[in-house]
Amino acid sequence: MAKGQYEAIIGLEIHAQLLTESKIFCGCSTTFGAEPNTQVCPVCIGMPGVLPVLNNKAVLYTIKTGLALNCRISPYSRFARKNYFYPDLPKGYQISQYELPLCEDGYLDIEIDGDIKRIGIIRIHLEEDAGKNIHDGEHSLVDLNRAGVPLMEIVTRPDIRSPKEAAQFMKRLRQILRYLGVCDGNMEQGSLRCDANVSVRPVGSTEFGVKTEIKNINSFRFVEKALEYEIERQIKVLDRGERIIQETRLWDSKTETTQSMRSKEEAHDYRYFPEPDLVPVEISKETVEGIKRTLPELPQQKVERFMKQYGLPAYDAMFVTEELSIAEWFERAVNLGGAPKTIANWIMGELSRLLNEENKGFEENPVTPEALVRLLKLIDEGTISQKIAKTVFEEVYKTGRSPEEIVREKGLIQITDESFIERSIEEVLNKAPKEVERYRAGEEKLLGFFVGQVMKLTKGKASPGLVNELLKKKLIGEGEKR
Ligand code: ADP
Ligand code: MG
Ligand code: ZN
Repeated sequence: MAKGQYEAIIGLEIHAQLLTESKIFCGCSTTFGAEPNTQVCPVCIGMPGVLPVLNNKAVLYTIKTGLALNCRISPYSRFARKNYFYPDLPKGYQISQYELPLCEDGYLDIEIDGDIKRIGIIRIHLEEDAGKNIHDGEHSLVDLNRAGVPLMEIVTRPDIRSPKEAAQFMKRLRQILRYLGVCDGNMEQGSLRCDANVSVRPVGSTEFGVKTEIKNINSFRFVEKALEYEIERQIKVLDRGERIIQETRLWDSKTETTQSMRSKEEAHDYRYFPEPDLVPVEISKETVEGIKRTLPELPQQKVERFMKQYGLPAYDAMFVTEELSIAEWFERAVNLGGAPKTIANWIMGELSRLLNEENKGFEENPVTPEALVRLLKLIDEGTISQKIAKTVFEEVYKTGRSPEEIVREKGLIQITDESFIERSIEEVLNKAPKEVERYRAGEEKLLGFFVGQVMKLTKGKASPGLVNELLKKKLIGEGEKR
């Protein structure tokens, strides 16, 4: 069977580290990057006789996420022990949730090639993270700082049909988690990670094929690459007339391939059972309603509002709502009197360019909305040209000084003195008699050339509007004289 005749079925299991200050069952700090084993206590290193105490904030954050992802919040859920042995898990079991998770049956709408596609969410449950093994030559070391950090596991239905959709889902999910402030979404540091389940089936078939699960994916790009590779691999196996074995595979970003880790036969039997050290979690309708009221405006709603309220095109609205920090910055500038579309243009243009140059995120943006609005005012008043404004903006970005100060100090004020501009025009025209001839013979596009020359001569300070106007007058006027 040829390649085009298969379709891929994908479901994601996403782990998101919650932004609580302390761990899920003890008071240890969750700060990333501390010296190994400095953020541990008898509870999170699994000493005998200790008891876990549930961090309410972790529950709250999970419910927030569940509500934002249109889930049903379970009135009654409980924790379960997932038993397995590994050096980074000193207790010998992970406290997780099994048959009664906190949130169930939701969805997230993503946009893909201009269409909206709904991806179902099976469940969201809360669990503790394990520690980390560090393999160092002949030794292996264990760092338990991460042991007991609260994790949310979000499991999608097998509704995803392409690597691109999978990456888009991850992006939109990350955006929501960041809007909610429940997870920083840092994939490099592992606070958001994804296992991808994938199978292929002949187009037209209604049954699912045997799936493999790819672990260890830590960027949007790798979600796409790993799935592309794995789909290709599965199709080749089927085309050879062989069968896919259900297994866990590891994504290797160096070779950009997936490697078999363990097959179903070697899969763990976790012997789940209800966690006896924790009482079940009961959540009333009132509590859920109360939490619902604290939810922020979510990205999709914001996009719609920005289009309606500020008349932004869809593309611009999506751009400025990508991060909550951008949206807030944008709205502050608008409230200070800037024209919404103009502000969006500066965000998408110069500001993004400068941030990208330094590989910085928007949170590190040194320009205040006040400074941009003052700069826009200088343009509107005719004090500086659009072109000079870009130079000033860059200077504001680099030095943090006010636009007015920079304009004054560098003598960047736009020249509106007509006799000065006329003298410059004459100088330019005198130097280019051939072009003047051609212009007068009907080659009107040469006007741009003349404007450019005058702007160059005046070091960009002449008012472009005036230059245009006076040039036309001069070129036509003198032509008529002849
Ligand atoms: P398991 O019990 O093997 O972990 P689950 O039913 O819990 O499987 O599903 C885990 C993930 O795999 C979910 O995201 C689900 O959507 C996805 N999934 C299930 N069956 C398939 C399949 N045949 N192909 C691709 N993904 C699948
Ligand atoms: Mg599973
Ligand atoms: Zn601890």
